[in-house]
Amino acid sequence: MSASAYIGRFAPSPTGPLHFGSLVAALGSCLEARAQGGRWLLRMEDVDEPRCSPQAAGDILRTLESCGFEWDGAVLVQSARKERYRDLLERLKREGLAYPCACTRKELADSALAPDGAAIYPGTCRNGLPLGKRARAWRLRVGGSTACFDDAVQGRLCQDLAREVGDFVLLRADGYFAYQLAVVADDADQGVTHVVRGADLLDSTPRQIFIQRCLGLPVPHYAHLPVAVNAAGEKLSKQTLAAAVDRRDPAPALFAAMHFLGQESPPDTRRITTADFWAWARAAWRLDRVPHRRTLAAILAAPASGNADRQPDGGVGEPAGGARQ
Ligand code: GLU
Repeated sequence: MSASAYIGRFAPSPTGPLHFGSLVAALGSCLEARAQGGRWLLRMEDVDEPRCSPQAAGDILRTLESCGFEWDGAVLVQSARKERYRDLLERLKREGLAYPCACTRKELADSALAPDGAAIYPGTCRNGLPLGKRARAWRLRVGGSTACFDDAVQGRLCQDLAREVGDFVLLRADGYFAYQLAVVADDADQGVTHVVRGADLLDSTPRQIFIQRCLGLPVPHYAHLPVAVNAAGEKLSKQTLAAAVDRRDPAPALFAAMHFLGQESPPDTRRITTADFWAWARAAWRLDRVPHRRTLAAILAAPASGNADRQPDGGVGEPAGGARQ
């Protein structure tokens, strides 16, 4: 493909301020898009409205700006796109691929769990709602499908959807659309060709590819970066009280994110401005240096010089090889 056909994106969920973990995804997706001569889009993933806030969205935008990120075009906001998601759901309903489900969380409590902690749906409502029951959610019929893809960082991943995930939710019982449907609709409508994001979404990717196949949408290329975890091995997030990136002095976090992503450090980062950072980072970036791991210990301070120590084995997480087939 020609370099200019590349379209990448960063798609934060505005549930809290931008922390080191999201900075890593922003930086990796941006630098790879620029290295390929492509566009880099920004999308606010507030589809899960009860967990998101406009304040957090504004805060994330200001932090990205102060870090020197420059995205192309207007920011796409999921909460403004519900009609589009509804249209796609209607299509899946018409084709008999989506069906109503009356099961409550309690009724599914004994089901085995998918990698993301959701119940593997036992199929109770697959052939029709039980008598006297009302539709709560809508699910996508996965049949006997397996979805495989070659991830540019993590290698090949295959998922037997029926066994490992089950028929999954497209429209939730609380009336909000599921992230899986929204992300597929948005990536397709924005013409995204390359998705570079955190490996916490690796196990969601086969579901997204399955939806793309059901809707006849193009399947982007995927690259899943290691996820930053704290000393307890937990993903940095609002729940684990990850610190916000410092807007007044973002350069240390930017260098730390490059270091985290396996990039070579510059000789001396002490008096470097964000403008210097970007000039260096754009020239230095190489996707093939990114560690092939799902998780890595977060490095919260930038090395003071190029010789500064990376942690001995680079992290605490399980090797990405676990995901390969
Ligand atoms: N909104 C998701 C998050 O913040 C990322 C989704 C994606 O990149 O596909 O974790």
